[in-house]
Amino acid sequence: MAAVVALLAMSGAVFVWPYAKSPGPVIAPFLPVFATWVTLTEGLTALLLWTQFAVSGRLLFAALSGAYAFTSVIAAIQLLVFPGVFSPTGLLGAGPQTAVWIWVFWHGGFPALITASLFTRAVPSTASRLARGRAVAFACVALALSLCALATAGQAHLPPFVATSGSYAQLSSSSAGIVVEAICLAALGLHVSTTRLRSLMDLWLAVALLGTLIDVALTLSAGARYSVGWYAARAASMISSSAVLGMLIYETTGLYRRLSETHKRLVETSARDGLTGVFNRAYFDDRFPRDFSFASDSDQPLCVLLIDVDHFKRYNDTFGHLAGDDCLRRVASTLSTTLRRQSDYVARYGGEEFVVVLPACEAPAGLRVAQSLRSAIETLGIRSASSNGAPVTVSIGLACSLPTSPDSAPALLNLADAALYRAKERGRNRVVDAAEVYEPRTGASQARSDPASFRSISS
Ligand code: GH3
Ligand code: MG
Ligand code: MG
Repeated sequence: MAAVVALLAMSGAVFVWPYAKSPGPVIAPFLPVFATWVTLTEGLTALLLWTQFAVSGRLLFAALSGAYAFTSVIAAIQLLVFPGVFSPTGLLGAGPQTAVWIWVFWHGGFPALITASLFTRAVPSTASRLARGRAVAFACVALALSLCALATAGQAHLPPFVATSGSYAQLSSSSAGIVVEAICLAALGLHVSTTRLRSLMDLWLAVALLGTLIDVALTLSAGARYSVGWYAARAASMISSSAVLGMLIYETTGLYRRLSETHKRLVETSARDGLTGVFNRAYFDDRFPRDFSFASDSDQPLCVLLIDVDHFKRYNDTFGHLAGDDCLRRVASTLSTTLRRQSDYVARYGGEEFVVVLPACEAPAGLRVAQSLRSAIETLGIRSASSNGAPVTVSIGLACSLPTSPDSAPALLNLADAALYRAKERGRNRVVDAAEVYEPRTGASQARSDPASFRSISS
């Protein structure tokens, strides 16, 4: 892209060159539009480069930001002093030579400052303090203001370049014109040879410097305002001012995309259990109370299942912890894949315990899901530590918000926990539903004091 822009700019300049001196129409709004464009794009570039300095601490960005701020300020002032824009002779006490001298300072100053920034490349980012960057940027803005003051208040001390006709042909043959052209050429050469255009920033800075060089060459060859070369030079100047900004906007857009993808991945990872890949306890603790509130506010049923691997300590002791980990992974994966509905989810509650939440699920359906989970683990056929070759099994405690109507999420979970306890007590590898023992007249606590009243569903 940079090569295409550079090629187009160069071929445009070559094409226009023979007609550079031909007078063109005086389009009065052109200069204000051009100067506003340059002021804004250079100002925005300075701002974005400054944020890069603030984030990275690299003095180079502060220096580049200063160079762009210099140009933004100088372009704005040139608009104010340009004859015939705000007043016939220009504002701020400008004389006929002011605008052209500001042009000289602008087009000599920008490439010179970009070249000066080469010296800040070696400064390590840790050595840069905010104050140092501020000093660099303020110095650039102060330089722009001083040069503009010289071109207005001190105009009498500067050699005249502009004739009454608006022609500035004298500038083209003057040493000032040659010096500006030499600075542009040297800046481009030094920039390319020093940076070798390794980064996107360096590449587009080279395009900006090339734009300035073409601008200067065409302006000097045109010799008069509102000539073909003068208009073409301003177009090159607009390319120069927008090159780095375009690249920064493109980069920032890409950065936002990458940032949002990374953020999504981080959120996803932070919600997952490292061993099994199902949701973790923190995620469950955060989500379950919200699921519960939503269910009770909308009078919808909600079931919760506490699942515990049977005799898991013995499994670990027999096969080792690595095999135990593998077993937990397979159990978790089977629980996940056995759940059908999008809204159902499994989380690792801790150790060898899992919790399954079934939103908008009636008690009978919850019971069926619990049974299918229990049976899925059994039929998985993981060899257990028992001598009779039985597979690894799980015990499940089930509690549903309707008809038990507990008043909080922890209360519902407690019911499931008590039901799980009964399942273990009754011989493991079974589902126990807390609902059967809940009696609205006596409350849930009654349920726990009367274990015999739990309904036990064995395999
Ligand atoms: P019960 O049938 O009554 O549930 O008996 P249990 O042996 O499963 O119960 P207990 O709570 O005594 O043992 C749980 C074991 O789970 C103890 C612990 O070492 C093991 N465990 C907990 N977390 C992990 C883990 O991440 N990896 C492995 N391999 N083992 C774990
Ligand atoms: Mg346990
Ligand atoms: Mg266990």
